[in-house]
Amino acid sequence: MQPIPALSIRSWQDELRESITDPALLLQKLDLPTEHLKGAIAGSELFELRVPEPYLSRIEKGNPKDPLLLQVLPLVAETQEVTGYVQDPLQEEDANPLPGLIHKYTNRVLLILSGACAINCRYCFRRHFAYQENQLGKAQWRAILDYLSAHPEVEEVIFSGGDPLATSDTRLARMIKDLEQIPHLQRLRIHTRLPVVIPSRITDSLVDMLTNTRMTPIMVWHINHPNEIDDAVRHAAYQ
Ligand code: SF4
Repeated sequence: MQPIPALSIRSWQDELRESITDPALLLQKLDLPTEHLKGAIAGSELFELRVPEPYLSRIEKGNPKDPLLLQVLPLVAETQEVTGYVQDPLQEEDANPLPGLIHKYTNRVLLILSGACAINCRYCFRRHFAYQENQLGKAQWRAILDYLSAHPEVEEVIFSGGDPLATSDTRLARMIKDLEQIPHLQRLRIHTRLPVVIPSRITDSLVDMLTNTRMTPIMVWHINHPNEIDDAVRHAAYQ
């Protein structure tokens, strides 16, 4: 009798690591003509192409107008300057008092947990964000905790990015624990696209930490089109 091969269980980190970043490979996998290649290379030189396999599998092969493809395929148009377009459309630079923290509205702050995403959406309004200057090391995190402690009007913390769920569960748990020590923080919001593009990102430990925090957790999934919701996404949403 032949031995039964071991099941290969790929983690969300594996799927993330194996994302497609090469425009030629993307076109080849989707049976698309090479006429799109020049524009895709030009666009990806400014903002890297990035598509993980679970998302790729929902794109119709041979259809250059597929609504999911249109969100990820770099275009030569991205290299053109357009009058009136700006690199910081939400004016976040003016509301960035500390690295990793944006405080625009009185009762809430947004924390940039990671500059990484599982998918690079061509329309991203933060594609020019200064992620390098907003990295959260220990000192920056301490400064954020001090800032929040000194601002009792802040009731809500929003984890953002990049994609905040590109952060490991271990680091997320540490951060949530620190935030729970600040009594006036009541809500934790997580804005993410990661479970939509890699549904296995909804891990048991993530669900546990959000179920057990004393803050009210709210998770907002960024979904643009019904074709983005397949069975795996549905399953992740019900976990
Ligand atoms: S996942 Fe969000 S932050 Fe990342 S590229 Fe897409 S829109 Fe931008």
